[in-house]
Amino acid sequence: MLIFNTKNDLSSYLSSLTDPLIGFVPTMGALHDGHLALLRKAKKQCSLVVCSIFVNHTQFDSKEDFNSYPNTLSSDITKLEKINCDLLYVPDVSDLYAIDEKAKHFNFNGLDPQMEAKFRKGHFDGVATIIEKFFNIIKPHKAYFGQKDLQQLLVVKQLTKQLNLPIEIVSVPTIREENGLAMSSRNKLLSPKHLETASMLYKSLEFCKANKGNFSITDLKNRIKTQFSEQLEVDLEYLEFVNSNSLQTISVFKENGDNAICIAAFVGRVRLIDNIIF
Ligand code: AMP
Repeated sequence: MLIFNTKNDLSSYLSSLTDPLIGFVPTMGALHDGHLALLRKAKKQCSLVVCSIFVNHTQFDSKEDFNSYPNTLSSDITKLEKINCDLLYVPDVSDLYAIDEKAKHFNFNGLDPQMEAKFRKGHFDGVATIIEKFFNIIKPHKAYFGQKDLQQLLVVKQLTKQLNLPIEIVSVPTIREENGLAMSSRNKLLSPKHLETASMLYKSLEFCKANKGNFSITDLKNRIKTQFSEQLEVDLEYLEFVNSNSLQTISVFKENGDNAICIAAFVGRVRLIDNIIF
């Protein structure tokens, strides 16, 4: 695997190749099987796979969250080599941002006033700013995003459309731990006890899906809120029942799909998100 630290070296290498089909997997590192699922899919579909590892400060609204973000670069490199990732781009912040450069402002047509956007101010402006930069440098044919970050996936689709970029956004289902907890780099910050407690996020989502015919959405929401309020060390931030394409709130489930339930909660000091689509 070739490793690049600067956009100039990366783009001049890419432009020296003849007709590669480029698949791109942006990550913030601390790689786990969820990231590897994206990379494996990219390897299957593309002739050249580029992974990036960059913890993008403009998408964080909390310094503590940014500063505590796990960094496991050497084991990330071993994992990437094992699955035959072709190129890794690990830039320094100065390669991507001018000093004091802020995130650009975007409008995502109704995808961005709720959930992650509401609770992490400016988050998607930061995400879109860095993804636009990456897309301009790497010019991928396909880019891979996890359904675990459903709102991000839809925002990136919208961004690609707005910028009129010829990039296919490929979504990959969520990979989970045995207890159902969605894999996440932030899980590395959880104690063994909290790792177990955190499985209640997905269990709640599964409960709602399994009981969609038995209770109204309001009742389901109230039941889950009660369960969370009874758990010390767990703080439910939101639980939203939405259309899985528009993210608009729903009050009844649709018969034939397009339903999503999205959740965010703190377990101890660690903020986790998850969703279920059905
Ligand atoms: P991150 O490093 O957290 O920014 O994630 C990089 C990419 O991996 C994003 O597209 C995420 O949605 C995706 N991802 C993170 N966790 C998972 C997971 N458990 N299953 C599938 N994809 C994931």
